[in-house]
Amino acid sequence: EEKEKKPEVVVVQQAPIITATEVKVNVSMPEVAERAAATGADGVGLLRAEHMILGLGKHPRKILEEEGEEALIEALMEGIRKVADAFYPRPVTYRTLDAPTDEFRGLEGGENEPIEHNPMLGWRGIRRDLDEVDILKCELKAIKRLREEGYKNIEIMIPLVTHPDEVRRVKEIMREVGLEPCKDIPFGIMVETPAAALIIEDFIKEGINFVSLGTNDLTQYTIAIDRNNELVSKYYKEDHPAVLKLVEHVIKTCKKHGIKTSICGQAGSRPHIVEKLVEWGIDSVSANIDAVETIRRVVARTEQKVILNFIRKSHISEE
Ligand code: PEP
Ligand code: MG
Repeated sequence: EEKEKKPEVVVVQQAPIITATEVKVNVSMPEVAERAAATGADGVGLLRAEHMILGLGKHPRKILEEEGEEALIEALMEGIRKVADAFYPRPVTYRTLDAPTDEFRGLEGGENEPIEHNPMLGWRGIRRDLDEVDILKCELKAIKRLREEGYKNIEIMIPLVTHPDEVRRVKEIMREVGLEPCKDIPFGIMVETPAAALIIEDFIKEGINFVSLGTNDLTQYTIAIDRNNELVSKYYKEDHPAVLKLVEHVIKTCKKHGIKTSICGQAGSRPHIVEKLVEWGIDSVSANIDAVETIRRVVARTEQKVILNFIRKSHISEE
């Protein structure tokens, strides 16, 4: 009896999609570093320090007081090293601690966290880092030592800036620990307040290598919607025209001054917003692990569209 001949299985190796715009990935916990690196992302656009610390289970202040500076530096080094190692030599952008009081209160030793009426408008981001310089210095020392170990792929950015003075002060502190910003190590800011977006040129004058758009906070502060308040969550829209206007302004202004732009908010995982960002000329998009592949395709498709439109237009002007 004749058997039906099965067609041979041909395994087609799909070529990786190459894009001019970098597609990076957001990482919160070092444990997912390997999985994040396997997405083929061009680097980590945002490594969130606070999730790493929440993972330690103990408040950094308590670690400092009970175990000393070395213990905190080493704990930080261990987490950051995992990510820097998984991605090496692809860049990893470490964001200094952005600790909201309400989240850090849950940690062992966190009972002294101040109770705030509105933590989202309170003691967090760079303003808190600058009030707790001893903790900030531990972060910077951890990064300095890792760079000395050979992890030259680590970059630094600071969260929630509102005034160029904050950049100046952080740079002083970096120099105090022996890290020359923008020279020894790429240094950038997150633009996640309307204040920072509106005076982006003043930040550029202060001397930065890159800007990363934190659209989660930029949305909440622009349209006055607490991102944690379910009563108003239906009004929370990252594609609100006012938010997009600020984003466009930041990208185009940075472009004019040769400063690289990136996005690390959730909007970077949303195809319809990413299309706009690529059209405006963003240099890099950082997405969630599960969105990297889709976003890579969206970026590639948008880049093709932009180029094609450009070619068509230049043909018309030649005629
Ligand atoms: C943001 O605000 O867009 C951001 C990426 O930071 P986080 O979500 O950690 O506040
Ligand atoms: Mg933020």
